[in-house]
Amino acid sequence: MSAEIFHQPIATLAAQLEAKAISAVELTQAVVARTKAVEPRVRAFNSFDEADALTQAAAADARRAAGAARGPLDGIPVGLKDVIAVAGQPLTASSKMLANFVSPYDSTVTTKLRQAGAVMWGRLNCDEFAMGSSTENSAFHPTGNPWDVTRVPGGSSGGSAAALAAGEAIATLGSDTGGSIRQPAALCGVVGMKPTYGLVSRYGLIAYASSLDQIGPFARTVEDAAIVLGAIAGHDERDSTSFKTEIPNYRAELGARRGPWKLGIPKEYFGEGLDPEIAAAVERSIAFYKSQGCEIKEVSLPHTQYCLDTYYIIATAEASSNLARYDGIRYGHRSKNAKDIVDLYFQSRAEGFGAEVKRRIILGTYVLSSGYYDAFYLRAQKVRTLIRRDFLNAFKEVDALITPTSPIPAFKIGEKSDPLAMYLCDIYTIGVNLAGLPAISVPCGFMPSNLPIGLQLIGQPFQEANLLAIAHSYECAHEWSVKHPNL
Ligand code: GLN
Repeated sequence: MSAEIFHQPIATLAAQLEAKAISAVELTQAVVARTKAVEPRVRAFNSFDEADALTQAAAADARRAAGAARGPLDGIPVGLKDVIAVAGQPLTASSKMLANFVSPYDSTVTTKLRQAGAVMWGRLNCDEFAMGSSTENSAFHPTGNPWDVTRVPGGSSGGSAAALAAGEAIATLGSDTGGSIRQPAALCGVVGMKPTYGLVSRYGLIAYASSLDQIGPFARTVEDAAIVLGAIAGHDERDSTSFKTEIPNYRAELGARRGPWKLGIPKEYFGEGLDPEIAAAVERSIAFYKSQGCEIKEVSLPHTQYCLDTYYIIATAEASSNLARYDGIRYGHRSKNAKDIVDLYFQSRAEGFGAEVKRRIILGTYVLSSGYYDAFYLRAQKVRTLIRRDFLNAFKEVDALITPTSPIPAFKIGEKSDPLAMYLCDIYTIGVNLAGLPAISVPCGFMPSNLPIGLQLIGQPFQEANLLAIAHSYECAHEWSVKHPNL
């Protein structure tokens, strides 16, 4: 285990905090110092507020001294993607549109993390409005992959993955609409989890595509992901799509649920475009499960080939509607060059949005427009049902599915200039969002070039406890999480 405090998992740090071997202020200071040391190269943050974090940490220490500590997250610095609202802190979505916006309120996940005692630490870079797979669409700056800062960390939650891998936070949150937690987790060698749609409240999350968006944790270990998920999950009356369901103690369930499980290998996920080194790493992971007595079964998800098209119709349609609110009047950027009110809308949006966001708004407006609605949007919704049905049929036979998370490892900053090439990064992750399922990416090895590889496990709706236990059993037998990038 690495000696540096900022590379330790929550579970270890919580025990040290509990034993008073370290204080929350010392831990936060170590994370702040690490951030200052590596941030010029990694650039994972849009902003951070050191004084505010240290005040929160001091409050955690005071609680502990008074015998009122709140559990494993009390005093742990957690970074949030810059689309999740924290009262009094900037909330930019990495867009010029919101460059000067300060959130007047906390999101529900922020409130829940505060209740658990976590220290809100920093605003993490992402693709503008979470649209992208590399964090290069940030209006502010790209983020470097800590394993090779000339490469992307993935996206859209690239800052959340990079900050964690670099030791600039102990855990982070991201949002996942088509893979934005799992793909950057894979590319940065950390655990990233997208919960079932409806498990975690979206109140205070800047909306991209509301029927697909879900907030979830990035963590060093599956156990840490279970801790964070347990803190943020649960019904919220402020999100009408949030589900009323009992939240189990995910951490306690890790050890309680032991296999052997039935695991499905969807044959459509191992085709053209998959890097052979990644395929081999996933094959080794499958062999591991087999050696543990799991039944491995090939399954088919026949509508997989339609996932990308379906996603880019539904996601852009919802985005065009969600982003209509940025009109230069109510909030965000307001053009100084407008001649009249209509021109003010046009100019503010023309100046405030970047190229990819505009592309999505135009596409989304097109597929929703009269005459095209039935041919595109309505048809995509029907195909979405078929895609979900594929997964549910597979789950009649197996407990979870195993696939690669990303077909390729981290690529060079600037390498993918064609939007379609970028969209293909999510080929193994978007089906999960269309079907509303939970999925987790766990590190499963390294490329010969020392870039991390991620394994994706896809679970049944609201069966996060099982999914985490399956991932945990793999992690316990492998030591990937103790390796850290050399920064
Ligand atoms: N890369 C996908 C997109 O650009 C997914 C992004 C996300 O999950 N937020 O839409």
